[in-house]
Amino acid sequence: MENEIIVRINKRYIKKYEEGYPLIFKEAVNNIEDLKVEGSILKLVDDKNKYIARGYFGRQNKGYGWVLTRKKEEIDQMFFQNKIITALNKRAPFYFDEETTAYRVFNGEGDGIGGLTIDNYDGYYLINWYSKGIYRFKDTIVEILSRMIVYKGIYQKKRFDDGIEEDEFIMGEKGEFPVIVKENGVNFAIYLDEGDMTGVFLDQREVRKKIRDRYSKGKTVLNTFSYTGAFSVFAALGEAKDTTSVDLANRSLEKTKEQFYINGLHLDTNHIVVEDVFNYFKYAIKKEMKFDLVILDPPSFAKSKKNIFSADKDYKDLLKEVIDITEDVGVIVASTNCASFNMDKFKKFIDTAFNEKERKYRILEEYSLPVDFTTIDEFKEGNYLKVVFIKIQNQ
Ligand code: SAH
Repeated sequence: MENEIIVRINKRYIKKYEEGYPLIFKEAVNNIEDLKVEGSILKLVDDKNKYIARGYFGRQNKGYGWVLTRKKEEIDQMFFQNKIITALNKRAPFYFDEETTAYRVFNGEGDGIGGLTIDNYDGYYLINWYSKGIYRFKDTIVEILSRMIVYKGIYQKKRFDDGIEEDEFIMGEKGEFPVIVKENGVNFAIYLDEGDMTGVFLDQREVRKKIRDRYSKGKTVLNTFSYTGAFSVFAALGEAKDTTSVDLANRSLEKTKEQFYINGLHLDTNHIVVEDVFNYFKYAIKKEMKFDLVILDPPSFAKSKKNIFSADKDYKDLLKEVIDITEDVGVIVASTNCASFNMDKFKKFIDTAFNEKERKYRILEEYSLPVDFTTIDEFKEGNYLKVVFIKIQNQ
């Protein structure tokens, strides 16, 4: 195969890759100086030159590339085609579901190609390239995808490590944004031409449904770090008494109004507050406000004028503030997409927060990524989403 580079794996890592770990670390490669051009095919071998796997060179966060196969096969057009067909077949139930028209059709290493995701927004497909390495395969991947699906348009976002993010239209018809998609019968306004976010995080689908169907009726709901208010819209459709969406970003006001509007909801009982969540907590405590249901879905890392928030250090303290403004037998939906800690550790944060507050709680349910965000056991950190429904117990 052209460009194939022999990569000698450090002894300490051989077992890891033999067992199927997909991310190639710099420390794992003895001859790292041979990796020059991203997109090169790598042949991983052990200290006796025995074949371990094939992958590609692409820099993404801490990784230097992804393993693509442990079989003795070539990385060619057929290889990519098989992966894409398998992934599309897995999503067949979604293609028949008229109530949900937005979902992920390809999820990186979970579907066998790290660094690549593809989402379907009602016929507008969005390809995310997470490194220059995977982007080198663009022509092949786009050609295969466009043959395999019926599409209105195909878009891409480059999410390379050097921070350059570009939205680009690739082929088909250009969308008139917002495009309205459906999720369990609820409308979402989607923009594929506005930078890194599209208007909805598809991985929270099951959580939103649960909030609508089981937790909202007659309740006062506070949605913090609300972005476009997706959780609030579901709560309102679940007959919440009222909802309050709090987000720091100015754009959140118009975007949230739009989400309510396209679902035929009024703003009289649905409040939108553009403010730092930490200030809002102070205000709510001063006014002695309490909510029945509080949704907490902060970014892994955020910087505002007064606060720096980092989920792995600060989630516990954030929860403590939330406990103060939740009704005595209320529910907190604690969510994080931070990949640097797992569910066990997240539950420890929760436990410590409640212990320090001397309050009792019970975990009602837990969620991780939905089925279309396929993950593999060999790469636990790929299952980054952790959502816990917590019921505060009477004193
Ligand atoms: N929960 C949302 C997604 C959150 S994205 C959903 O389900 O769609 C993270 C959001 O947090 C962004 O919209 C960002 O503007 C907001 N944010 C970051 N720091 C914040 C802060 N200190 N106070 C309020 N919002 C903040």
